[in-house]
Amino acid sequence: MEQRHLTCIGCPMGCQVTVEMEKGEVISVSGNTCKRGDIYARKEVTNPTRIVTSTIAVTGGDKARVCCKTASDIPKDKIFAVMHDINHVKCDAPVHIGDVLIEDVAGTGVSVVATRNIAKVG
Ligand code: SF4
Repeated sequence: MEQRHLTCIGCPMGCQVTVEMEKGEVISVSGNTCKRGDIYARKEVTNPTRIVTSTIAVTGGDKARVCCKTASDIPKDKIFAVMHDINHVKCDAPVHIGDVLIEDVAGTGVSVVATRNIAKVG
């Protein structure tokens, strides 16, 4: 029997959750205060994913960078590849919230979208 100890990231309580596994299968989840912790723990030990938030360089805007995030969760082991792509693109102002700045980032099938507006200057 394998045990995994996790901190639930579902809310600021940060419950300490223990997952018991056998042959890659989840046998039990304990320590969670609510159902979200159970769902998080089962996913985290089998298929961990994350939303990535960052910034992308902007040309010709009233700010040098625009805040962005992945439109949905991406596999946790793709975070560095996603950040590599984010760090190597530039976009042109104006930028509007929800604009797709990168399609299929790092081959994940997920887009990176703007989360702020950037006005064009000049
Ligand atoms: S188990 Fe529920 S209460 Fe505990 S940190 Fe996760 S979401 Fe919050």
